[in-house]
Amino acid sequence: MRYIGRFAPSPTGPLHVGSLVAALASWLDARAHHGRWLVRIEDVDTPRTVEGADQHILRQLAACGLVADEPVQWQSQRFAHYQSALTQLDTKGLVYGCCCSRQAILHALELNQQPHQRHTTPRYPGTCERLNLNQSRTKLAQRLKTRPAGTVTWTDRASGQQAEPVHAAVGDFVLKRADDVWAYQLAVVVDDAAQGVTHVVRGADLADNTARQIYIQHCLGLARPHYLHTPLVMGPDGQKLSKQNNAIAVPLTDTLGALREAAARLNLPADVIPEARQPSELLQAWISPWRSVWITAFTPPSGTYN
Ligand code: GLU
Repeated sequence: MRYIGRFAPSPTGPLHVGSLVAALASWLDARAHHGRWLVRIEDVDTPRTVEGADQHILRQLAACGLVADEPVQWQSQRFAHYQSALTQLDTKGLVYGCCCSRQAILHALELNQQPHQRHTTPRYPGTCERLNLNQSRTKLAQRLKTRPAGTVTWTDRASGQQAEPVHAAVGDFVLKRADDVWAYQLAVVVDDAAQGVTHVVRGADLADNTARQIYIQHCLGLARPHYLHTPLVMGPDGQKLSKQNNAIAVPLTDTLGALREAAARLNLPADVIPEARQPSELLQAWISPWRSVWITAFTPPSGTYN
């Protein structure tokens, strides 16, 4: 089977154990399938990008023995490709300009008695679709029109059958922000397709983006990868570990310890080869347990859009 996997960190800070879990999981899945493993720096959200974090992440990965099989790619060098995808969607009549602020969207939802729940993407009520705003006059966000009747279904290799009626769940969603920042959803789809990614392995916090990404793939006629979302690493406060809540960076001086901790989060034997001196010894030793925990147990069929 042809297999191309990837790890796609956003350089908003150093790698912490939560992101190391995603890196390790995607690397092990690629090796277990005799596939290739790529690294893509997702520095598309320029205001959130921290200078030097990309190089630091690459050093941390290398110290953990995780080195990409092909040259690393930076999303900040690929804006022309995102523009060309946006133009394609626009040509199909699937894009419109939007001047709504987040505040305005929340207000419209209140008025429609659909109050927004905290920490979720507010569903866009479609306000600007009817306005047909003049794209050349002011800076507008670009939204993808979602078909009211469609439901995206797919099979996650860990959590099984999934379904999301994208229009009802999130509405027409942003492809490019009014401040000219490309949306993660578009950039990730364009790049996964351009790099021939066949398998996406990432943390469960990204699972609810999958339907939107499949929807874009459908609109652009792109192949759909298989998806596996691994469990989230929670901090002592019960919150997801993230750079935002100051999760501790993977120390360059104790990569064996960090790898063992990441492996334990993936239900792999942390104490494999207790006397290991090199990360590569641990990595090789976890390929077989990865197969029995994450591959043999689950079948990876694809889903549909209709
Ligand atoms: N860049 C995203 C993040 O670090 C991950 C993208 C992905 O794996 O699809 O949250």
